[in-house]
Amino acid sequence: MDRFADARAGARTYDLDGLRERVLTERGGQVDESIPQLAAADPDLCAIALVLAEGTVRASAQAEVAVSVQSAVKPFLFALALLDTGGAALERVGIEPTGESFDAIKLEAGTGRPPNPMVNAGALLTASLVHGADVAARGERIVAGLSAFAGQDLRVDEDVARSEHLLGDRNHALAHLMRAEGTLEVSADDAVAVYARACAVLVDARALAVMGATLACAGRNPLSGEQVVPASVARDVVSVMATCGVYDGSGRWMRSVGVAGKSSVSGGIVLSAPGVLGAAVISPPLDEQGTSVRGRAACEALSADLGLHVFASHSA
Ligand code: GLN
Repeated sequence: MDRFADARAGARTYDLDGLRERVLTERGGQVDESIPQLAAADPDLCAIALVLAEGTVRASAQAEVAVSVQSAVKPFLFALALLDTGGAALERVGIEPTGESFDAIKLEAGTGRPPNPMVNAGALLTASLVHGADVAARGERIVAGLSAFAGQDLRVDEDVARSEHLLGDRNHALAHLMRAEGTLEVSADDAVAVYARACAVLVDARALAVMGATLACAGRNPLSGEQVVPASVARDVVSVMATCGVYDGSGRWMRSVGVAGKSSVSGGIVLSAPGVLGAAVISPPLDEQGTSVRGRAACEALSADLGLHVFASHSA
């Protein structure tokens, strides 16, 4: 029996603009100020998109407004690293939640590996494992891989990439720490440069929702039909998103939303509900853990209204 048949039926007619209007009344949170381009974000931007497993795309107003993907890229970097290493990336990065912020200067005790691929240390490492002879080649392969997840050609915002590279002092610190531990094989500066480019890829809510849907469809893009990564990779990525995707807010997220999600400082959230749908919300004001305030509210509402919570019993 397919317990999510009702969720898919509900998603086909769900009033996304009505949800957008409701969450827009939420005025809390602060726009990220780590780089000038993010500080200049429109705090009133709010967009929601859903992509069902059968390929139906549903989108609210503003679903074509692009922002830099930032940390919402991390699940996809992990996927590409697993693909390119034939799974060996799992020996190079842990998969345990940290209970700490995304840029904590901390590695796994005893191994010196990054704690998981959803925090900055982990994403610096997974980005370094994607194949490519140098920074440019690795960056290109990452953009091509992300484009396959999205089913459209994505591009890098070069100003954001430059700012991330220049101003990401904590990322440089993490990369040097991993070099000192012997867990990062490329140079610290190369690692930050590639990760910065990955964070600077532009996505709108629609593209991000397709990316989430590709993970939700066992690695097969439901729009293009391309098998972007094997089903086993998609399963591994969604599992780690579920436990680590919202950093030190991952437990609260799993309780209240109950769907694997990844937050980002540009205000994007990507959701992946296997076999059902992918979704994305983009709205820049963030809470203390770097999660979009309206994004959280929208994800909670979607999960409750469509019955997406993976641990909710539907048999009572
Ligand atoms: N560019 C940011 C960084 O690495 C991404 C962080 C995030 O979105 N949480 O610092």
